Order: sequence, then structure tokens, then C-alpha cells
Amino acid sequence: MYDYVIVGAGMFGAVFARLATDAGYKCLVIDKREHIGGNCYTKEIEGINVHWYGPHIFHTSNENIWTFVNNFAKFNNFINSPKAMNNGNLYSLPFNMNTFNELWGITNPKEAKEKIEKEKIDIEPKNLEDQAMSLVGKEIYEKFIKHYTEKQWGKSTKDLPSFIIKRLPIRYTYDNNYFNDVYQGVPIDGYTKMFENILDGIEVKLNSNYFANKDYYNQIAKKIVYTGCIDEFFDYKFGKLEYRSLKFEHKILDTDNFQGNAVINYCDASVPYTRIIEHKHFEKNIKNKTVITYEYPKKYSEGMIQYYPVNDEKNQKIYNLYLEESNKTNNIIFGGRLAEYQYMDMHVVIASAMNKFKKEMEKE
Ligand code: FAD
Repeated sequence: MYDYVIVGAGMFGAVFARLATDAGYKCLVIDKREHIGGNCYTKEIEGINVHWYGPHIFHTSNENIWTFVNNFAKFNNFINSPKAMNNGNLYSLPFNMNTFNELWGITNPKEAKEKIEKEKIDIEPKNLEDQAMSLVGKEIYEKFIKHYTEKQWGKSTKDLPSFIIKRLPIRYTYDNNYFNDVYQGVPIDGYTKMFENILDGIEVKLNSNYFANKDYYNQIAKKIVYTGCIDEFFDYKFGKLEYRSLKFEHKILDTDNFQGNAVINYCDASVPYTRIIEHKHFEKNIKNKTVITYEYPKKYSEGMIQYYPVNDEKNQKIYNLYLEESNKTNNIIFGGRLAEYQYMDMHVVIASAMNKFKKEMEKE
């Protein structure tokens, strides 16, 4: 008998399992995949930690969360500074003085502000295109946002809701750091090692789908912590929630440096992928070879991994029905990006697991 059977060895499941175990509860963690770490999983290839499901940079301003993760991994000082490729030219991100210099030869913030003000189009945004044009104007929108976003969502920006880009961070400083958080980095030995440490001393069963043995797991657990898809849990009774998926194509190359940066976004419509990731640059790795990954957005179909929830009005309504249903269940705790139907960064998932565990303890 376990106090908690935890479905999912990703960030939510692993953190919840650690907190519960440390508080004296007996936990079993199961995952249908053949590895721990969920989407944060890294696989060592040619001595390089490959971010198997897309580039993962840890960032937070929450001191507690930073202290927590540092118990399980030593982080390097990696700063996320992706570049954007458009029509054979490379630009700095997020939009900052470096980008404005590269675009327009502008060298001071006053000129840059005036230029952006002149570029902005005064319209009441009805869709993502209007929204982007009203924030940064036509040139930046067309060069960096339009095609990248259309590839990402598989839809015209005219058919996408404006709320997807509520704000577009613009900096009038020469600062290519993508995040504003106080703490940032990548675990020096990879995320998988960090998950091994989080799950140290906790029973883990891989290649185990909860739904293949649901009655058994329910019997052996006082409580279930469920981090899978919420619609699947309720047998899709209110309908299927929509997702976007991704395809990752990993390649080993016989060169020590392919693109000189960890992440380069491809903003042209003619290029089918959205990014190329060169993993060695996350860790300043000096191996002779390199591993790169092409990231292709894909329409979700049965059997693929659900990556990005489509949080439009229709899906949000369906999710709310599942949420109501989940509030009626006893002894099941729903958490993580799939059960909460929300894109969440790692630190947000950790905060969510900590909060749900705290609530559990308050009930005891
Ligand atoms: P998951 O990692 O998906 O874990 C859930 C686990 O549950 C999975 O392993 C799954 O196999 C398992 N599972 C589901 N159903 C069942 C079942 N029926 N039976 C058994 N097991 C089951 N965050 C950042 O902070 N920084 C970044 O730079 C960043 N980059 C990202 C890039 C990409 C491309 C993506 C997609 C996400 C990125 N994230 C990033 C977000 C990060 O991946 C998530 O915050 C984190 O993975 C969420 O953890 P989770 O436990 O909720 O979900």
C-alpha cells in the first residue's frame, strides 16, 4: 500500500514525490515513457546533454524554488540569448537595442523609441496580426513574428486570437538576455541527472501506463497524483482538448561548432522548422562533434506528444468542465501542464507542486 501513487515522472510528479517522501509518505512514481524527467529529459549523446523534447532553460525569481532545485543539481551560468534568422540575416532577440541596430543602424535609445512609435499602427486589435502591428509595427511583425507564429500554430495570424501576444517585450538597452528573472541556468550534468537526484530513494516504474492498470493502481494507493491529460482521465466525456505537437529531428555532426549559438529561430515561411538547437552551447561543451535538433511544429494526432494546449475559448470551456469534475473527485490530485491544461515553465510547475502538496498537508 502506498500513500501516493504518482502518475508521471515529469517535473510535477517528481517534485511532489520528493516532498511527500521527505514528509514520511510512501510513494510510487509511474510513467508510461521509458525514462524519467517528462519533457525536461536530456539524453547524453557524444558526451553532450541533448534536450530531447526541446531546449529547456531554467529561470526563476523565486528564491525558494531556486534553493530547492539547487539541492539536486549544480547549475551553470547559461543565459538564454536566441537569435532570429530572416532572409539570410541574423538578428538579436528579444527585441532590443542590438536588434534595432542590426535592423536600422540605430545606435541610441531615443532614436529607437521614435522609430518604434512611428512604426506602430493605430488599430483596435481583432486578431494576432493587428495586435503585433499595434505593438511593434509592420517591419518587425513581418520579419520576425508573422511566419514564425503561423508555422507554430498552423494558422494565419489573422485567424489567431490577439491574446496570444498580450505584450511583446521591447528593451531599449543592449541586453540579449531573453529572461528578466534573477536566477537562470542549465543543470551542469543534464536534467536527467537532476531528476535522478530528485527521485533518489523513491520507487519508480517506467513503461507503465496508468490506464492499462487503473484499478490496480487505485487499489494500492491511498491517493493518486495525476499529471497526465485531464480529458483522458475522464474518458473524454466532455470532448477532446486540442493541442499542438512538435517533431524533433536530432543529428550528430562532425564539426565542433555548427551555428555558434544554442538556439536560432527561423522566421521565414520557406523554412519548415521553427528552430535549430545546438545543445553543446548550453554547457560550453568543447567536444569535437556536435548534436543539433530541428524543431518542426506539427498538428497533433493520436499517439503524438501533446506539447502546447490550444487555450482558445472553445477549449477553455471544455477544460472548465473537466476542472469542475476534478474538484468533485476524492483522493485524486491533478497537477502539471497536462492536468491543468496550461503552458507552464518549469519553475511554475514546481510552485504548483509545492502548493498542492502544502494543501494536502493542511488537510491531514
Ligand atoms: P511533463 O514533463 O509532460 O510530465 C508528465 C509525465 O506524465 C510525462 O512523462 C508523461 O509520460 C507522464 N504521463 C502522462 N500520462 C500518463 C499515464 N497515463 N500513465 C503514466 N504516465 C503518464 N520550461 C522552462 O522553464 N524553460 C524552458 O526553456 C522551457 N522550454 C520548453 C520547450 C518546449 C519545446 C516545451 C514543450 C516546454 C518547455 N518548457 C520550458 C516547459 C517544461 O517542459 C514544463 O514546465 C515541464 O515539462 C512540465 O512538467 P510536467 O510534469 O507538468 O509535465
